[in-house]
Amino acid sequence: MLDEDYQALLEELHETYKSFDEGTLPTYIPELSLVNPQDFGISLTLLDGRSFHVGHSQRTFTIQSMVKPFLYGIAMEQLGEEAVLERIGVEPTGDAFNTIKLQPKTHRPYNPMVNAGAIVLANLIQGDNHREKIVTIKKTLEDFSASDLGFDIRVYTSEKAMGHHNRAMAYLMLNFGILTGHVEEILESYFQACSFMVTTKDLAAMAATLANKGVNPLTQKEVMQPRTIKNIVCVMMTCGMYDFAGQWSYTVGIPAKSGVSGGIIGVVPGRMGISVYSPLLDETGTSVRGIRVFQELSRRLDLSIY
Ligand code: GLU
Repeated sequence: MLDEDYQALLEELHETYKSFDEGTLPTYIPELSLVNPQDFGISLTLLDGRSFHVGHSQRTFTIQSMVKPFLYGIAMEQLGEEAVLERIGVEPTGDAFNTIKLQPKTHRPYNPMVNAGAIVLANLIQGDNHREKIVTIKKTLEDFSASDLGFDIRVYTSEKAMGHHNRAMAYLMLNFGILTGHVEEILESYFQACSFMVTTKDLAAMAATLANKGVNPLTQKEVMQPRTIKNIVCVMMTCGMYDFAGQWSYTVGIPAKSGVSGGIIGVVPGRMGISVYSPLLDETGTSVRGIRVFQELSRRLDLSIY
């Protein structure tokens, strides 16, 4: 497809869905409810490095749960697949992002895409303290996005102040020996990892690097091993959209991850990375315009992996 055709398609979808105002801003992290509900950006990066953007593709928002696939990759590359599997499963939950359910017998979180799993990842990632871990996480995200990322201290402070549900889960996992060390220190890494600032342009490049087996198509840098990428993309497909995963799989068919800030990243293996940002969310915490745009892109460009 020609550059003009990709650009025209994104512009058409942006025009069609910008008047959609269904959904609500999240309130459980108070700072996230202060964004402009009209924000709407779409970016698409092909594996030959061509990128297309429309709307608010340069607007920053916090990465939130879209950081989880990358945390999973870091932990697997540092500790090996087996060590990570011992502590976190790979089963979808059918439950919300903050489910308190752990797997029977092992007490592992069901998967690395729900909060409980990502909190264990924050525990597993190597580093003497949260500062060292955050340096590693930032460097990895920047290698994936090929850009320098900022940090939103207000969202981080807001989430930390209100994060008692995550705290409760962390203590439950500490009780079962799934977490080790100090809960507040572990949560510090988790909350900070969720507070890096990204644009759809950054996220599309990150998704394209996943689609390209770990080689960033903009820099040609090999960021992670193909085997790690396979594992990440697999859990994105089965678990990345929480309790919307089945419908997403059926209507979009692209491995993806949503974040409560209103972003979605989609990985089309061997073809492209896509990102949409619009902060109005449905009851599963997924961007409403994001779902529509992905459904239509999947249909029009025949992107479903099935
Ligand atoms: N930082 C958010 C939380 O822990 C992530 C949730 C999400 O983006 O789905 O609640």
